[in-house]
Amino acid sequence: MLRSPFVTLARGRFGSASGRLLEQVRGGRVVTREQLVRATGLSPATVTRNVNALVEGRVLRERPDLVTVGATGRPGLPVEVDPEEYVVVGVHLGTRLLTVALGDLAGQVIVSRTREREPHDVPDFTWVGEQVIDMLRDLPRRVPLAAGLVAPFAELRLDRNRTAEQLQEVLGLDVATSDHIAAVAAAEFIHRRHGTGGVTAYLYARNTAGFAVAADKGEQTEVSRVASLAHFPTRSTVPCGCGRTGCFQAAVSDHTVARLAHDAGVVPRAEIDEVHRVAADGVPAARRLLADRARLLGEIAAVVRDMVNPDRMILVGQAFTGFPGVLDEVVSAFGSATALPPIELSFTRFGTEIQALAACTIALGPVYDDPLAALPTHRRPRATRRTTA
Ligand SMILES: [Zn+2]
Repeated sequence: MLRSPFVTLARGRFGSASGRLLEQVRGGRVVTREQLVRATGLSPATVTRNVNALVEGRVLRERPDLVTVGATGRPGLPVEVDPEEYVVVGVHLGTRLLTVALGDLAGQVIVSRTREREPHDVPDFTWVGEQVIDMLRDLPRRVPLAAGLVAPFAELRLDRNRTAEQLQEVLGLDVATSDHIAAVAAAEFIHRRHGTGGVTAYLYARNTAGFAVAADKGEQTEVSRVASLAHFPTRSTVPCGCGRTGCFQAAVSDHTVARLAHDAGVVPRAEIDEVHRVAADGVPAARRLLADRARLLGEIAAVVRDMVNPDRMILVGQAFTGFPGVLDEVVSAFGSATALPPIELSFTRFGTEIQALAACTIALGPVYDDPLAALPTHRRPRATRRTTA
């Protein structure tokens, strides 16, 4: 099992034939075998053999209703990802929340559930197993294929291999793992595939904070650098568990903002949703807390940008998406703090579902890499059991 801190998102010509074909189909949605030959450079015989195997294995499905007459005058039978046969299980273990999700082969989250936890709690995988059984009850014909476990392992002081084995025991599925920040970057990258050449930096903030860098080298793409910003010094005066003040994560976390709002008597319970609600109602103290955090986020985003100098920057996590009313503050603080020329700065389009999506993305990694090998043995088309070219 792959235990690298990096996530390979595309292997280009180094990948399996079926993986390369699946990648093209995912990117193009509905494509013909002729188009796949042109896009991959694989021989027509290899494309036909592998596409047939993927259709037989129910990874792809044919869409005769969408047939068009191609350039050669012959109608091409298009295929698309079959999102209705299999599911993957994504588990996101955060510092304060545990999320379990079922995702389809097209990369969409079908259903997810979340419960609260304390940072030092033992991961409650029994609960995870119960939720999976319960969620599968509503999707009776789906076949579970693989699982993914995403967590800030170092910060939670969890052994990545041991934790994955514990989950594997509960689910009975292979478990791929990833650091939380890398997984979030991978999910973002895969869902905005087109026009992403060069280097993209992702800054994540919610109850943990850090950044990752994805490098698209044409043939191969990977999340190549991941850094925690937990104790990165800022001008904030919020105390951190490490004994210093102003550490980035302590300063900007949802947990801190909720606690500050509660201490100031702004909200009845120390919950970030309450702060958002009260700010939306126009209570100035709540809005001020969120705007202060937004400016700090913008400043640190600028520091990261100036250090990494990426081609574009994407801001991810509920610290950004939880209350869109202060995003202008992030952008203006970023603009004032960066010393470099203007850059493409954007916010994730995934809000509360980003943790579930990141976990499902990691679960899909081995499936996307070599889909025929990832199928349960009895579902693997016999003629192609070990075909890779
Ligand atoms: Zn600290």
